[in-house]
Amino acid sequence: MADRRIAVFPGSFDPPTLGHLDLFERAARLFDRLVIGVLENPSKAAALLGAEARRDLIVSELQGRGISADVRVFDGLAVDFAASVGARWILRGLRSAADLGDELAMAGTNREASGGAIDTALIPASPRFAHIQSRLVREIASGGGDIRPFVSPAVAAALREAQVRP
Ligand code: ADP
Repeated sequence: MADRRIAVFPGSFDPPTLGHLDLFERAARLFDRLVIGVLENPSKAAALLGAEARRDLIVSELQGRGISADVRVFDGLAVDFAASVGARWILRGLRSAADLGDELAMAGTNREASGGAIDTALIPASPRFAHIQSRLVREIASGGGDIRPFVSPAVAAALREAQVRP
């Protein structure tokens, strides 16, 4: 159906946090179809978890919460990924004013790069999760700290395992 509202939610999700899961749940209610895109090669830093591991963790969290969404690993540009699944929306989360500048630049760039076909919706983080950042979770995990307040029990276990067997 051409007028179905399809959205993609691209990100590194290294690791997927409670903040990401909250957004997935809310986004799945807003759109007819939600496709979560797990970026294969996050440029920022060496990934803690492989892309397939990140995808599998998200899939099982969604199942456990009854959230209906597809999860795919992708590489390259978010607009190309969006176009490949017929999406006209890219979703991103907004945790604070500090996120806004980068997200606006990315939204404008993606709109132009897609010839105006694909727009971005920024969804505000729920206040109880707004402080959670994957980068900080990675740091705490690397330092041997307790990451259980920030991620699901399954994700915490996967991170512990990844550190034992990197
Ligand atoms: P990136 O895609 O920049 O690598 P992440 O994988 O950490 O970043 O996050 C993907 C998306 O999820 C981004 O739009 C980010 O703003 C959003 N996000 C990250 N953490 C949270 C959170 N705690 N609450 C809501 N949204 C979040």
